[in-house]
Amino acid sequence: MNDNCLFCKIAAGKIPSTTLYENDEVIAFEDIAPQAPVHVLIIPKRHIEDAQALQRSDDQLLGQLFETARSLAVKLGIESSGYRLVSNIGRDGCQSVPHLHLHLLGGRSMTWPPG
Ligand code: AMP
Repeated sequence: MNDNCLFCKIAAGKIPSTTLYENDEVIAFEDIAPQAPVHVLIIPKRHIEDAQALQRSDDQLLGQLFETARSLAVKLGIESSGYRLVSNIGRDGCQSVPHLHLHLLGGRSMTWPPG
């Protein structure tokens, strides 16, 4: 746990969140400022700064993040309509919380290209 990291604190239950799924390695919770009717953040509990910091040994964890997204899409009823998974990285990627997370966005039509 990184004591200065907001998402580490959420993962540890020190900051409240609306949790939709949790196991030993990942937790999924509602984004505090939703950009779509469905906006969930899926994070590893272990502190990893971003996708660029992933290592080959994180393969299984990475699979769990995507599996959590896939099963939440079913649970939230957007698996047929579609959705977007986003992971922002660094300054140009517009990452504001430096703890790896997938945004699961759905419930409306997305546009492309992103801003
Ligand atoms: P990013 O800009 O890609 O790093 O995404 C960070 C996300 O975290 C943003 O969508 C924020 O709205 C969200 N966020 C920030 N603080 C909280 C919080 N306390 N609980 C839930 N989501 C948060």
